[in-house]
Amino acid sequence: MKDNEATLILIKPDGLVKSLTGNILTRLSETKLEIVAAKMMRVSQKLAMEHYGHLKNEPFFEELIKYIMGELHRRRKVMVLIYWGHKAIQKVRELAGETNPETADSTSIRGSYGRITTTGLYENVIHCSANPQDAEREIKMWFNPEEVIVNLYPSKENIENSIKRRVWA
Ligand code: UDP
Ligand code: MG
Repeated sequence: MKDNEATLILIKPDGLVKSLTGNILTRLSETKLEIVAAKMMRVSQKLAMEHYGHLKNEPFFEELIKYIMGELHRRRKVMVLIYWGHKAIQKVRELAGETNPETADSTSIRGSYGRITTTGLYENVIHCSANPQDAEREIKMWFNPEEVIVNLYPSKENIENSIKRRVWA
């Protein structure tokens, strides 16, 4: 379909600690969108700060970085996925619900499973891209082109002999 779009989804550390991966993926399957990339990942401070760069002046920024890195939940990883299809961004945002889990529709993912911490941080179990510009920026920071099974954006082949890479022994 011509107007297919891609969206980045993270199952945040609270979602993993609460064993919500299956529930969240089941809810997301209601969209009938296609998963075109998926992996577990440790989040570096650099990646966390890049991902949430637009919020760097917010009072909760430092805690948000710790949250996405898993430092608040002793689970230093996230699940990262790309969903692809018609109106993917809007469909996933609707299922996810509002940013604030207390005002999110109580049947949405964030409304069902999120909470506000005593310090005021919204622990809302998933991230999903807000618009096509964010989606492209986020997908390019979380995935290499080789990890995605459709060609979402132009890419090129690079020969980098001096790059050290771990391969199976
Ligand atoms: N957040 C928060 N308090 C706020 C706004 C945001 O704790 O007042 C956190 C929350 O975890 C949210 C993330 O920062 O998911 C990114 O904020 P954004 O405004 O981009 O919301 P989202 O796109 O995730 O709905
Ligand atoms: Mg956002």
